[in-house]
Amino acid sequence: MVDNEAGVLPQEPKKTFDTILVLDFGSQYTHLITRRMRELNIYCEMLPCTQKIADLDFKPKGVILSGGPYSVYEDGAPHADPAVFDLGVPIMGICYGLQEIAYRADNKNVIAGEKREYGHATLNVTKHSGKQEHVDRLFEGLEKDMEVWMSHGDKLGKLPEDFVVVAESGNSPYAGIAHQEKEIYGIQFHPEVTHTKKGTQLLKNFAVSICKAQQNWTMSAFIGKELERIRALVGDKGQVIGAVSGGVDSTVAAKLMKEAIGDRFHAVMVDNGVLRKNEAKEVKEILTKGLGINLTVIDASDRFLDLLKGVKDDPEKKRKIIGNTFIEIFQEKAKEIAEAAHGSDKAGDIEFLLQGTLYPDVIESISFKGPSATIKTHHNVGGLLEGMHLKLIEPLRELFKDEVRELGTQLGIPEDLVWRHPFPGPGLAIRIIGEVTREQVRIAQEADAIFMEEIKKAGLYRQMSQAYAALLPVKAVGVMGDKRVHAQVIALRAVQTTDFMTADVFPFETKFLSKISTRIVNEVDGVCRVLYEITSKPPGTIEME
Ligand code: GLN
Repeated sequence: MVDNEAGVLPQEPKKTFDTILVLDFGSQYTHLITRRMRELNIYCEMLPCTQKIADLDFKPKGVILSGGPYSVYEDGAPHADPAVFDLGVPIMGICYGLQEIAYRADNKNVIAGEKREYGHATLNVTKHSGKQEHVDRLFEGLEKDMEVWMSHGDKLGKLPEDFVVVAESGNSPYAGIAHQEKEIYGIQFHPEVTHTKKGTQLLKNFAVSICKAQQNWTMSAFIGKELERIRALVGDKGQVIGAVSGGVDSTVAAKLMKEAIGDRFHAVMVDNGVLRKNEAKEVKEILTKGLGINLTVIDASDRFLDLLKGVKDDPEKKRKIIGNTFIEIFQEKAKEIAEAAHGSDKAGDIEFLLQGTLYPDVIESISFKGPSATIKTHHNVGGLLEGMHLKLIEPLRELFKDEVRELGTQLGIPEDLVWRHPFPGPGLAIRIIGEVTREQVRIAQEADAIFMEEIKKAGLYRQMSQAYAALLPVKAVGVMGDKRVHAQVIALRAVQTTDFMTADVFPFETKFLSKISTRIVNEVDGVCRVLYEITSKPPGTIEME
């Protein structure tokens, strides 16, 4: 049996696809280098700058040293393992990475600049064609006066020995350098940010024309290899259990498992009573009838709603109740399934827990946080399933969200589900401010269903990242059918975001909002007013509680 704790997975992408390795020195843009490479269909992974080269379990086609907030010459500044230069593959330093290359050659090469350079700059790209044809390859096909984006305080005070200047800017005489004999390059600007308009072309020059990496990283190429990997890991009889929610990640992961090992994958969905209207039913339908997944749905809504009774002013308590109860139920079911599975001749014990971890979670846990910070290992939720000693299986661990969506599409998952907005684990409980009762759930569900229906009808669903209706714990006065009513208030929320760290309010037309308001007030019993929530994040959060 393969031990995934030790990271010995067969056929990991980094072992079967040409891989560019990014060593992270802590820049806030490092993950973007990885993204840009993937967009070029080149497989790329990031590791912290402290990575020992002798411990690498794959051979990259090339290495990129990222930017970072430190000064290379300061005490305690991070440095790459010098062995990276003996790997015999092309290397490119970006900003701090450039400074690291220069500093290694001579620690007097990097100095504090007179002023910080932050923002746009125009390069002057110079050609060196002649014997060392490789030095010009980084800027091949790019304009001589390329527009770039800079963010640095330090600079090279002189050119490291054996290097030539291939680009300069008003402020940075060494904005681009190349080693005369070896394929080692450095640039002071950031090609990975969109402000550097042709930055992707430069990254492509490095990866394709210099490192000779193949542009074969596609989801269709990934599927086949991933199925093999799962089968090798799980074995002929091993069984896997995993929770599904109807969200993109868990559905794609579940479908992949189904394709790999059929019914030896057991999906479990817990209806916690605070799902969207008809959600449990619809998800069951799609996952079983549509996708053929071996799914057990547990209706535990009473158990959850009973526990939520009386919890009013403490959102954290709601979250804890829901989280803990979910684990309890999942654990009970897992034991049941495991007992039923045990001893059958077609299948062995349940050994694995499926987890829909994505690459951004991995990046977050391994990115370089500072010279003294210890590197967090990715926490193992397998331990949550007490006594079962399950190993984790994370088939989406190397993928970004858009890659998961693409994979989902290729696996035949309906478009509606592939593009579904994220839905929080505690569900409507944190969108119903105050106490969660069956009646409150009904009101929130109905209002939300109308809002969603209209958003989809208007073709707006994919223009926003998340939208929902929340129920406020207040009553207001209204006049309905000439009668004075005292009823509840719904708040609509819709945001646009790329990373969910910051978010803008979606700019609906007033006419659209009025239409929603009319429908909700008319169709949802117990509501007499509808508000549109107009707080961006920060200071607001996307969810209400
Ligand atoms: N800290 C270094 C400087 O200020 C590198 C900055 C960076 O990598 N963006 O020059």
